[in-house]
Amino acid sequence: MDVKTLILYGKKRLINVTDTPRLESEILLADILKIKREKLLAYLNENVSLDNEKTFKTLIEKRKNHYPLPYIIKHKEFMGIDFFIKQGVFIPRPETEILVEEALKIASSKKVRILDIGTGSGCILLSFLHYNKLSKGIGIDISEIAIKTAIENASRLGLLERAAFIQKDFKNISSNDTFDIVVSNPPYVKTSQCKNLYFEPVEALDGGEDGFHFYPMLIEKAYRLLKNNGTLIIEIDEGIEKRIEETMRKSGFKGIKIIRDLAGLPRVAEGTKNG
Ligand code: GLN
Repeated sequence: MDVKTLILYGKKRLINVTDTPRLESEILLADILKIKREKLLAYLNENVSLDNEKTFKTLIEKRKNHYPLPYIIKHKEFMGIDFFIKQGVFIPRPETEILVEEALKIASSKKVRILDIGTGSGCILLSFLHYNKLSKGIGIDISEIAIKTAIENASRLGLLERAAFIQKDFKNISSNDTFDIVVSNPPYVKTSQCKNLYFEPVEALDGGEDGFHFYPMLIEKAYRLLKNNGTLIIEIDEGIEKRIEETMRKSGFKGIKIIRDLAGLPRVAEGTKNG
């Protein structure tokens, strides 16, 4: 089959799986042919080898069964940077870019020490350090595969000298008054909704019955970890912003702000330790 026929074949198979079936079909085929997607358009009438056609059809079936595209092609773009991703690691979401942009704004190109709790692929910490060249940071996660992936990403981005990754439960971090910025995208999906999530690690998403499970501990811990005038920036879900605000205030945070995402939903909470 030629490129054009295969793209259309893939598009048809994926029509009920994604809003962008043609795009995903093109991405998969380009990945197999090891060329940029834009280049595919120049080869529409070229024949694809039988081996590649077979591989393509197998991957299309995987995707048809809701296997996430980033796990197939092993990468995902976040903050304009390509991150290595594999199964077992949370897939970066576009709405999390707001959190990184907020952290960059607060640091305003100055040298800061930043901590990322539940770092996953490392995308938050590493994109921050990529755009703020003076700073250093630590990412922690309880998942071994996450830490290995984050280190791989740090290595690919040339950030090993400024980023350290440690496998650890955030409750066991002992240092106090250490960081200028603490960021986190903790699990906040309600347990009842987690059964709809295919293939991603449930421990990165399951935020308990009401999605709020991790926040009280996280906020309290972050307060202790921050230097005076340091800032906590966390991702939140819609509907819990009032509870988040209240919990942050009770822990001592000042200047609490809730920032909405492009869909207009409360997505990031931020506050400063000012004691
Ligand atoms: N925004 C993610 C989702 O809805 C959840 C992220 C999280 O739990 N931190 O899939």
